Amino acid sequence: MKDYVIKATSGNGEIRAYVGNTREMVEQARVNHNTTKVATAALGRTLTATSMMGLMMKNEKDELTVIIKGGGPIGTILATSDAKGMVRGYVQNPDVQVENYPNGKLNVAGAVGTDGYVQVIKDLGLKEPYIGSYPLVSGEIAEDFTHYFALSEQTPSVVSLGVLTRNMEVERKITKEDGSEEIVVCREFDVEQAGGFIVQLMPFASEETIAQLENNIKDIPSITTLLKAGNKPEDIVEMVLKDLEPKILDVCEVGFECNCSKERVSRAVVSVGKKELTDMIEEGKPIEVNCHFCGRHYEFSVDDLKHLLKKAVRA
Ligand code: ZN
Repeated sequence: MKDYVIKATSGNGEIRAYVGNTREMVEQARVNHNTTKVATAALGRTLTATSMMGLMMKNEKDELTVIIKGGGPIGTILATSDAKGMVRGYVQNPDVQVENYPNGKLNVAGAVGTDGYVQVIKDLGLKEPYIGSYPLVSGEIAEDFTHYFALSEQTPSVVSLGVLTRNMEVERKITKEDGSEEIVVCREFDVEQAGGFIVQLMPFASEETIAQLENNIKDIPSITTLLKAGNKPEDIVEMVLKDLEPKILDVCEVGFECNCSKERVSRAVVSVGKKELTDMIEEGKPIEVNCHFCGRHYEFSVDDLKHLLKKAVRA
């Protein structure tokens, strides 16, 4: 099933809601960056929220970037979305390992840290981008976004984000030193469920609407529990906006997508300078360059490097 986010409102327009499943997006990020479980959860929650916030923007060319720095071992988390909710992003330390909580849940705050900020940069095509930075309150990410919406936009919000991983055993063929091959069983994991919702009260929301929403949200299970039980975003909209006459405004396909290309990456290679390029050519081996945002590998042959050196000389 493809990832999508539903935009909905209550019948009276006093609440707006974004509900999405983002399993493919988060799994793609995991594969590209080879993240550990806890790094997958931290990046996946951030990408999910960033995608929904991207969909809140009005113009096609608008772009939104979220940077989370909490002082924890994961380092910086960065995610960017366009106005269609297509995201890309990375974490500084994809190998981060943190002991789980005693109940077995991934300790995202332990990886992210709690001493830092969430920063949102909106490029709305104006002269200056909008930049807002607010302190982290929990490091678990959903609460941090709730706090961000309250402070930056004075919008009371309920944010729920979740990533559920599942263990699996995969048979891999390895080649030994003597050239013989062996099948080994590796313990790996993938993303089983991922998704989230952002529900926001409009400034003119009535007491009755607020009370009904609170009642609906009060005992709602976690987003991954809901998705694992087979609920679609449409079903979750019905639960969140129960007795509030939910109206679906739009269904938006979202995903992990980077606008990088060999051409773009080659600019970074050229920028290392003539001396370094000449040294690489003399080495006589192709080099591999990774895109920072999506982790995609690009190979540059010796001929490619010679071609880039010519460009560097001309520049
Ligand atoms: Zn890329």
